[in-house]
Amino acid sequence: MTVSSGVEADLIVARYGEIWLKGKNRHEFERKLLDNVRAALRPFSGVEVRRDYGQLVVHASRRPAAVAQRLEDVFGIASLSPARGVEPRAEAIASAAAQALDEALANRPDDGPIPFRVEVRRSDKTFPMTSMELEIFVAERVMPPHASRLKVDLTRPELTLGVNVRLDRAYVFAERRPGAGGLPVGTIGRAVCLLSGGIDSPVAAWMAMKRGCSVAFLSFHSYPYIGESSKRKLTNLVRALARYQPRNRLYFAPFTAVQEAIRDTAPEPYRTVLYRRMMQRIATRVARREKAGVLVTGESLGQVASQTMENLTCIGAASGLPVLRPLICFDKTETIERARAIGTYDVSIQPEPDCCTVFQPARPVIRGSLERCEEAEARLDVEALVEDAVAGLEVVDVEAG
Ligand code: ATP
Ligand code: MG
Repeated sequence: MTVSSGVEADLIVARYGEIWLKGKNRHEFERKLLDNVRAALRPFSGVEVRRDYGQLVVHASRRPAAVAQRLEDVFGIASLSPARGVEPRAEAIASAAAQALDEALANRPDDGPIPFRVEVRRSDKTFPMTSMELEIFVAERVMPPHASRLKVDLTRPELTLGVNVRLDRAYVFAERRPGAGGLPVGTIGRAVCLLSGGIDSPVAAWMAMKRGCSVAFLSFHSYPYIGESSKRKLTNLVRALARYQPRNRLYFAPFTAVQEAIRDTAPEPYRTVLYRRMMQRIATRVARREKAGVLVTGESLGQVASQTMENLTCIGAASGLPVLRPLICFDKTETIERARAIGTYDVSIQPEPDCCTVFQPARPVIRGSLERCEEAEARLDVEALVEDAVAGLEVVDVEAG
């Protein structure tokens, strides 16, 4: 992007946290974030993204408000501001600041003076004024036309006019919104999330993404006990999550043969735990294919019979990889709140049965023992069941909605 010497309106400054900006990580972090931002903004025309020492500057010539809103879903961005870019000269900064302030005040009710300050950050220390001098310079120029609506308050401002002076550009903004936080998707590695149609596992996937995992999805399906419409629901769930990462691969694994074999040979109370152990094994194979280093589930301690400490131990023991359970200490109400905020809740509550309800035991074991699981599995051809499920995998690449 070539930066003109004039004023650029319709910029968005996206800042990221400092912790990762050390050593080798810095380059990787910035590159991934830039890729992810570009992918998120692909549907928008007239957008240019540039990197600017510890922040990204997005120029949105069309629909800047929608672009800014889209950036709120990109992990790794700590905060963002709709901004103006100007030459780093005091006069130019003050005149852009006056415009930004006019706009900000036009959007606020006129019901008493607003605590206000100008806040300058200079990364260009050769700038001829100190930060405080420039703050005073700008405030003296922008405040007089609005004297009745503003009162200076340096410690508890409600409206802060931000000025960020850099070597060849200064940015001026009147708003600072929180970003999605977390780490750019893909900086930590890849995960496979066991995705049911419920409320919990989509939230778990989102949390893993937030911490920098790119997530592939795996859902078990028991046709004809569970109909094709449940696949549509799963696809819709992944589409809802596709706001948060650039690539979204969903696997369906056939699970009927596994469930029938367990029904026919295992003690009834152990069925659910044994289903879950088979899910772990198949998921481990999918993870190998996806070069993923961890599995993710929506399990939460004590939420249902299969999620007691003992049963989670039995389930986890069948996995060939670490199992991340981001919701492990969440209350259901906390998960629901998060599901609403991230946009998966409305899809999750559509009534569709999950395969775990097939041949569901009347009295599931509460404190399962690993020994009993292994005894029951000795009567199954575990390897062949896993192989068959892997051979029957169906893959769907889901596009964002
Ligand atoms: P969810 O809301 O995710 O269904 P839940 O609290 O209802 O979670 P369970 O239904 O007992 O709990 O499932 C526990 C976890 O096992 C799920 O969060 C999910 O990770 C995994 N799981 C359950 N059923 C399936 C399935 N059919 N396909 C893939 N994973 C599943
Ligand atoms: Mg469920």
